[in-house]
Amino acid sequence: EGATPLAQAYAGHQFGGFSPQLGDGRALLLGEVLDRAGQRRDIAFKGSGRTPFSRGGDGKAALGPILREYLMGEAMHALGIPTTRALAVVSTGERVRRDSGALPGAVLTRVAASHIRVGTFQFFAANQDHALLRRLADHVIKRHDPSLLGLPNPYLGLLKAVSERQAALIARWMGVGFIHGVMNTDNMTLSGETIDYGPCAFMDHYDPATVFSSIDRNGRYAYAQQPLIARWNLARLAETLLPLIHDDPQTAVDWVMPVIDGFPARYEHYWLVEMRAKLGLEGEESGDLALAQDFLGTMQGQGVDFTQAFRALALAAQGQPERLQALYADASGLNAWLARWQERVGRSAAPPLARAQAMNAVNPVYIPRNHWVEEALEAAGQGDLAPFEKLLAVLQHPFTERPELKRYAQPAPPEVAAGYRTFCGT
Ligand code: AMP
Ligand code: MG
Repeated sequence: EGATPLAQAYAGHQFGGFSPQLGDGRALLLGEVLDRAGQRRDIAFKGSGRTPFSRGGDGKAALGPILREYLMGEAMHALGIPTTRALAVVSTGERVRRDSGALPGAVLTRVAASHIRVGTFQFFAANQDHALLRRLADHVIKRHDPSLLGLPNPYLGLLKAVSERQAALIARWMGVGFIHGVMNTDNMTLSGETIDYGPCAFMDHYDPATVFSSIDRNGRYAYAQQPLIARWNLARLAETLLPLIHDDPQTAVDWVMPVIDGFPARYEHYWLVEMRAKLGLEGEESGDLALAQDFLGTMQGQGVDFTQAFRALALAAQGQPERLQALYADASGLNAWLARWQERVGRSAAPPLARAQAMNAVNPVYIPRNHWVEEALEAAGQGDLAPFEKLLAVLQHPFTERPELKRYAQPAPPEVAAGYRTFCGT
């Protein structure tokens, strides 16, 4: 009651090409609420019907993709990764038409720190509306970065803050093998939350070139591309902010370039923080970056399950490297690396058990494995929610190993994994 729901306008680069008019074509912002901690949150629908931005679409959503967003988002939240969240999925009882036929319809209720995207800024910048652009930027600063208010150049500060949040976020994605799949600028938030779970999936065996999305034919959004794309997207955000940052365009460019050029170093900083925790390294040593990169190097071409490898490393910390070694076709590269790692961890005083426990608190046993996600969604489509509820319960405690749930920790058989493709569901 008293809410004035609205659909938001935005633009965006989709797979590198600019679309000046996107917007909430099937979403509706109901309004904002303050949660129990006093934090302001958006409550929004996805799949609630046509809006002025629907273009040729029906504004609706099919149950499968909406449940997928629920599952993936809640899994990310349980992993401690900033994300929008699913409050509810409600079946509409309608059928929605998609290429694959008439599917059961549903509406997702989404909770977000905000729904403002890089593409939101691009919309107003493309319309050359500097007054509205400034209002938008002021709104975002007030909402997400109030400490910038009153600084000499809050808009440059905003760019820095967003870069910092995205560097931290992408490092977390990389640490769990998450592949967003559609890192278009309209799917990147200013808040630093993961948003718009479409064809996303978790990598099983380690391969930097991993792509699951059926529409990402050139691998633009492959696993290892994500930090590069984040920087590219931030450059698009920076372009929109130039007129707010300085009246002289060249001065504005000179000021934003260090932020954009500095992104790789900020990302690397967060990635190293992530990897030190995953590898059980206390303190900081100059060789840590190479040590972390080289662990991934040992996995390359070995068909090693990324999640299981990190989890098994905690056993190696306790003198039992066998489970880790068994993941490799040829463990000789791993063994050479293990000797270096032993030397590194041996220089700190932490007892092996404490180290293993610390590693197990950051290296999940359970991630949303592609074959289990598909199974759960398939059953839900037939009206059986039990597998979905079960999988959700597993993913809500990703770090706690439960022997009876062993099958959820296993990758799909190679013949299933090989052809795995995900779809947008739009
Ligand atoms: P997405 O792939 O969900 O990020 O959506 C990209 C764009 O397509 C956004 O502008 C959406 O609002 C729009 N869109 C996706 N699905 C629909 C639909 N069923 N009806 C209308 N617009 C849609
Ligand atoms: Mg989107």
